[in-house]
Amino acid sequence: PAPPPIKPRSHKTVLLGDASVGKSSIVMRFVKNVFSDAMEATVGAAFATQTLDVDGKTVKFEIWDTAGQERFSSLAPMYYRGASAAIVVYDQSNRQSFERAQTWVKQLQLSGNPNIVIALAANKMDLPERATSLEQARQYADDNGLLFIETSAKTGQNIQQLFSMLARRLPEQP
Ligand code: GDP
Repeated sequence: PAPPPIKPRSHKTVLLGDASVGKSSIVMRFVKNVFSDAMEATVGAAFATQTLDVDGKTVKFEIWDTAGQERFSSLAPMYYRGASAAIVVYDQSNRQSFERAQTWVKQLQLSGNPNIVIALAANKMDLPERATSLEQARQYADDNGLLFIETSAKTGQNIQQLFSMLARRLPEQP
């Protein structure tokens, strides 16, 4: 008899970044393909799962939104414990959010999971005002072993690609 189909186990994936950079909007766009200008602030741990097929493998994401705890960075470790992947988001029209993103990356890299796959997402690429340089961000990502992509949760541009990029780096089974 044929072996039973492999049921993909999910990869814990966390979103980190300053408040209002678009973390919840990225998750909503990816999971439900919707966008709202008036996203309600996330209360408690938001949680979603989504499966993606890339290069003939099925990768299942278990997505944790940081639920506004970016304001309490000491609480972060319990969110990213056991995570296979992290998406560190900044708003490309907001310089400070880029600097804060670098703090999150450092914290993740010191967190004791050397195999965690980290993607840096320059969100709100649809906005004309640009407070951060793309070349600088790309260079920073290269220097720190991060995947890098510009996204817009508003238009949906590159949201799917962001997750495909992570999926390519993750095993089918965690
Ligand atoms: P979070 O606090 O990081 O989860 O951010 P939210 O997802 O709540 O988004 C904060 C605000 O930015 C909301 O008003 C969103 O509608 C808006 N927003 C999120 N992503 C984008 C984007 O890609 N482009 C634009 N123009 N606005 C966005």
